[in-house]
Amino acid sequence: MPRPILATVHPLALRHNLARMRQAAPDARVWAVVKANAYGHGIERAFDGLRGADGFALLDLQEAERVRALGWRGPILLLEGVFEARDLELCSRLGLWHTVHCDEQIDWLAAHKTQVPHRVFLKLNSGMNRLGFTPQRFRAAWARLDALPQVEEISLMTHFSDADGARGIAHQVRAFEDATRDLSGERSLSNSAASLRHAQDARVRGDWIRPGIAVYGSAPDFPEHTSAHWDLQPTMTLSTRVLAVQELQAGDTVGYGSSFTADAPLRIGVVACGYADGYPRHCTTGTPVLVDGVRTRLVGRVSMDMLSVDLTPVPQAGFGSEVTLWGRAASGAVLPIDEVAASAGTLSYELMCAVAPRVPFSVE
Ligand code: PLP
Repeated sequence: MPRPILATVHPLALRHNLARMRQAAPDARVWAVVKANAYGHGIERAFDGLRGADGFALLDLQEAERVRALGWRGPILLLEGVFEARDLELCSRLGLWHTVHCDEQIDWLAAHKTQVPHRVFLKLNSGMNRLGFTPQRFRAAWARLDALPQVEEISLMTHFSDADGARGIAHQVRAFEDATRDLSGERSLSNSAASLRHAQDARVRGDWIRPGIAVYGSAPDFPEHTSAHWDLQPTMTLSTRVLAVQELQAGDTVGYGSSFTADAPLRIGVVACGYADGYPRHCTTGTPVLVDGVRTRLVGRVSMDMLSVDLTPVPQAGFGSEVTLWGRAASGAVLPIDEVAASAGTLSYELMCAVAPRVPFSVE
């Protein structure tokens, strides 16, 4: 018997969330962001739920080849562009759109002998200070690209640093407007948070939005808003079972470091998931868990292969009971991954991407 742990990808939920993003940004086309192996879901497993997107945005040529191998003939965008000059050849052959964020990438294009002209997204660094040309250097980069016979289409993009936070996006939208004024070409600015919160503004919506995390059912601005507030559905469930039950007396402790002490008799379930499965070790007593679809809490420290849960709210639970660590239980009850991530002091992005290779996946 295999160990009873499973990650399940939900294509109908992916489809629903994609539709939500279209609703949030009407008239814009949607790059479904599938970098990092579709945020840990697996590109091949997520593809069916996302095939209604207008294009796929991802990180490297290997991911692009995987999307093409699934039969996708539409647009694919390399979000960081190519990493070296010789990548341009495969980029052309696969018909990819690619980001241009630095002079070196323009040098490589200028030297590329090709029959297939390139379609590029020129990236403005409007304040995130990660990738892109500064507003001062943006127009010169545009002019260089515009002069290249190898380039047939220049679109314009930027990325927000704080669309989900206090600083907001107004200063970056202004920088983008100023830098791109009078330049032709399609525009792409918004990640999930900007698409959900600000896409009623046509300048923010642009021609293409680039949602990632919301497509995967997570609220980009949690805890200010929840996935339920945005009507997003979980696209990944991590589930397991109770392996053993322990009856504790007052004063008994649980797990390594004895970090939890029972103050009264307590039934706990020991379940088959630990940090070697990708469940965050930073989750401690109180982190929400569903047992048989009923909300309860983690107790004690997470160990490599196991963790423990309080069975008090689920008296009928015992050996073999279903445990949902995030996502959707068989009963339909939902435990948002955002809540588990917050307990660990991190974001849902990290949890989705960290499910360990030893965890089997299914699609349902
Ligand atoms: N666009 C770019 C350039 C990104 O790097 C990312 C993700 O980091 C996204 C869009 C999608 O962001 P999110 O998952 O927050 O929607």
